Amino acid sequence: MKLIARQKIRFYYYLSGIVAIIFIAASMSAPYFLNLKKEYQSKTEQLSQSIISEKKRHLYDVVNRTILEIEFIKTDTAREYNEICAEVSNILFTSHAWKEPILDESLLNVQNERIQDSTRKNINNIISFIVYDTKNSHVVGSSDDNAAEIFARTVSLNANNRELYPAIATAISNEGFSIYVFVSRDTFETNVKNRIKDLIRAVRLGDDGYIWINEIINYDGGDDYAIRLVHPNLPHTEGLKLSTKMQDINGDFPYKTELDGVKINGDLYFDYYFKKMNTDNISHKLTYAKLYKPYNWVIATGVYLDDVDNLVIKEQQSMDKTYKNQIQILGFVIFCILVISFSFLVAFEKHINGLISSYVETIEKKEKSLRLEKDKVEKAFGKLKDVAYLDYLTGLWNRRSMYERLTEEYSRCSRNDSSFVIILGDIDHFKVINDTHGHGCGDIVLKQLSKIMSKNIRNEDSVSRWGGEEFLILGTSCNLADGVSLAEKVRSAIEHKEISFDNITLNVTMTLGVSAFDPKKSIDEIIKEADAMLYFGKNNGRNCVISTMSST
Ligand code: GH3
Ligand code: MG
Ligand code: MG
Repeated sequence: MKLIARQKIRFYYYLSGIVAIIFIAASMSAPYFLNLKKEYQSKTEQLSQSIISEKKRHLYDVVNRTILEIEFIKTDTAREYNEICAEVSNILFTSHAWKEPILDESLLNVQNERIQDSTRKNINNIISFIVYDTKNSHVVGSSDDNAAEIFARTVSLNANNRELYPAIATAISNEGFSIYVFVSRDTFETNVKNRIKDLIRAVRLGDDGYIWINEIINYDGGDDYAIRLVHPNLPHTEGLKLSTKMQDINGDFPYKTELDGVKINGDLYFDYYFKKMNTDNISHKLTYAKLYKPYNWVIATGVYLDDVDNLVIKEQQSMDKTYKNQIQILGFVIFCILVISFSFLVAFEKHINGLISSYVETIEKKEKSLRLEKDKVEKAFGKLKDVAYLDYLTGLWNRRSMYERLTEEYSRCSRNDSSFVIILGDIDHFKVINDTHGHGCGDIVLKQLSKIMSKNIRNEDSVSRWGGEEFLILGTSCNLADGVSLAEKVRSAIEHKEISFDNITLNVTMTLGVSAFDPKKSIDEIIKEADAMLYFGKNNGRNCVISTMSST
């Protein structure tokens, strides 16, 4: 029983402990899990956008850097040509060939050879010069037939701002001759553009990226509105005339979009479908295009969006991995916390269980000793009760306990309209037995007769030693006649019993007086009445039963 109770307590202890641990662990880790998940979702959503904006920034940088390079090439080329012009001018000036009255072609060729030696560059097709006689206002010599005309056109184009076109060197003699060494504007720009085109053709960006240039001829659009100048992806199509009516596979008009964009803002981002570099695949492409106004060039570069998608997927996979790792670490930490908490739970239970066991043991010991004490007390009490209520010689009820029973029976009969009888017996001539055979023999007789009386009464009746050799029998729930019968039964049993003592056999008799309950009489009066009947019996020859019924 105790074991079952303790097992139940243990079961509920572990149940509530585990539930509490799980609840605490869940309530502590759930917000972290939720935050992690939320963060992951928002990062995933931002990822594509941030990659695209990163790519846009990259496209913007590439195009704008290219424009800066164009500007640099222009400046650098001008500086280079200017230096050459100055050097050539100097050679011509010091040669004095222009002083000759006839400046023939052979002389010029000689000068050209000298110039080539000096610059170590083939500048025949680049450098032009004229020698102008300021006194007579006519050209006295030039690098080729139409050099003067080209010079006039070149100078007039830049008349307002010579610095814009610095590839001219001038030498003026004090003899009325001006020498102009120059690179024609067309030559200059053609060479600059060729350098730029070569550079852009050579550029390769990451992810098969490249830069292309379309030259706008007609800002109103339509067929042949532009020429494809540089296109590393489709080099054989360079020189192709473009039309704003051209559509991609999606049905959009990318050239029109581009033209409108650069016209309004100077630059734009737009997307369309185009062949991918080094493949025949048509892919979705995001492009940034900017107009370089001095040349009417649209300089553009793009990125394929499927590459961006792949990048997003790659990034997402790496984020997934990080997320899973974090979840695993968190799961492991929670598992450790659970294990530690559970260990504490078990250790605490063991400790408490030990304490309870020791307390239970102590209590059980105390209970056992108390039970022993109680048994002792009960035994002592029994002995006391025996001393108080039993007659020491015969073991019958003594006079005091019998009197208590009589009182109880008297009140019971008074309440229940029932009846009882009192039989008072006295051994006949007992003194003679004592006197003849000794006091010990008398005691034996007393004991033997007590046993006979006890045997011959009913269970509900009681017998007591009332005085020395006097006995009182209480017959419950019976009337006077029943009492007489009971007394007669006892008397007869005694009369017929032979009592042995030291090889002597004795025959003992008893005289009995009987009285019955009478609500009008007190207990003492009823006892007295039985005593009177007994006395009456003694006087009538003894060994008889006398009652109020028989005495009348
Ligand atoms: P009767 O027939 O008239 O009753 O005569 P009796 O001798 O029995 O009566 P009596 O009163 O003269 O004597 C009673 C005797 O019983 C006297 C007393 O010594 C004896 N007696 C009383 N108590 C005890 C006892 O405990 N043991 C013994 N052996 N004798 C006892
Ligand atoms: Mg007597
Ligand atoms: Mg007597």
